[in-house]
Amino acid sequence: MDTTLLYRSAVLNVANHRTVQHLVTRRAWRFARRFVAGTTIDEALTAIDALEKDGIHGILDLLGEMVTSQQEVLEFSQLIGQHVTSFASRPYPRYLSIKLTQIGLGLDFDLMIESAKTILSTAREHDTFVRIDMEDSPRVDDTLRAFRLLREQGFDNLGLVLQSSLRRTESDLRSLLDLKPNLRIVKGAYKEPPTVAYQDKSTVDAAFVSLVKTNLAEGNHTAIATHDERIINQLQSWNAEQGIPSERVEYQMLYGIRRDLQRRLAAEGHFVRAYVPFGTQWYPYFSRRIAERPENAWFVAKALIAG
Ligand SMILES: Cc1cc2nc3c(=O)[nH]c(=O)nc-3n(C[C@H](O)[C@H](O)[C@H](O)COP(=O)(O)OP(=O)(O)OC[C@H]3O[C@@H](n4cnc5c(N)ncnc54)[C@H](O)[C@@H]3O)c2cc1C
Repeated sequence: MDTTLLYRSAVLNVANHRTVQHLVTRRAWRFARRFVAGTTIDEALTAIDALEKDGIHGILDLLGEMVTSQQEVLEFSQLIGQHVTSFASRPYPRYLSIKLTQIGLGLDFDLMIESAKTILSTAREHDTFVRIDMEDSPRVDDTLRAFRLLREQGFDNLGLVLQSSLRRTESDLRSLLDLKPNLRIVKGAYKEPPTVAYQDKSTVDAAFVSLVKTNLAEGNHTAIATHDERIINQLQSWNAEQGIPSERVEYQMLYGIRRDLQRRLAAEGHFVRAYVPFGTQWYPYFSRRIAERPENAWFVAKALIAG
């Protein structure tokens, strides 16, 4: 395993400890605000208003995952529906990300599908696109199944995420091509064993480029979701060579990461969206951001020491 992935694995292990979670949640909120737009929908929409001033569009994401009761599923589904309506007060392109374990995946597949349909119907009424995030590898089969089922039921305002770190993804992408999928390609943020995921960064990067090219070459809309400038440059050259229409490509990044690059791409006329997470359940999302970059762990350590 290379050092980047070794570091990520170690941080995600530590982050799972209850004591660490308790401490970080109490003390690191100020630093977490760099990555999390706030705890309320109003704060998230204010963050999106600010991004729009730079020509960057927002992706609304209510934080929360792996729910364990039907009651929570109902609460999250209702809240997300209300957020879609609130977002509709804005004149911008509207876009939402959801995690299926937030609305019942792992608890009750049928309940999850019903919740997803309710959210998608509300989203469709308000001209809002919905992207299903991809979670850890045990969730992939059911996520693909849900995406196909919902698309086959006529929800065209729906896209999916695929992770280049997983060995299975190339074949997953091919299995989806009959749906002409709108895909977001990411590297993958979860700790995965060598049996399912590549353990060296150069292979994950190469797979990322290859997945983007495959989906674009098939004529499908593709979100290139990375802060890796080298990969972005490489794909921009390839897109130009292949004559890929610009309306089929967008660049997506996370709130608080590489704002300079987000602004530059938007100023150059590319379609750029930033993922805007918000809510009180920010810890799992935040720990994945810490696990991506050693410098971030240092900031958290300082916040913990300062108290
Ligand atoms: C819009 C969007 C949606 C996503 N959705 C999913 C999803 O559904 N499922 C999933 O598994 N993953 C998702 N991810 C996360 C993704 O898998 C990666 O973990 C994350 O994007 C970091 O990888 P990278 O592609 O930027 O490349 P890296 O090679 O990790 O990073 C490239 C450069 O980006 C900067 N950078 C990256 N991460 C950080 C950070 N945390 N703090 C500061 N700088 C950083 C650094 O300058 C770094 O050198 C999403 C990412 C984006 C942008």
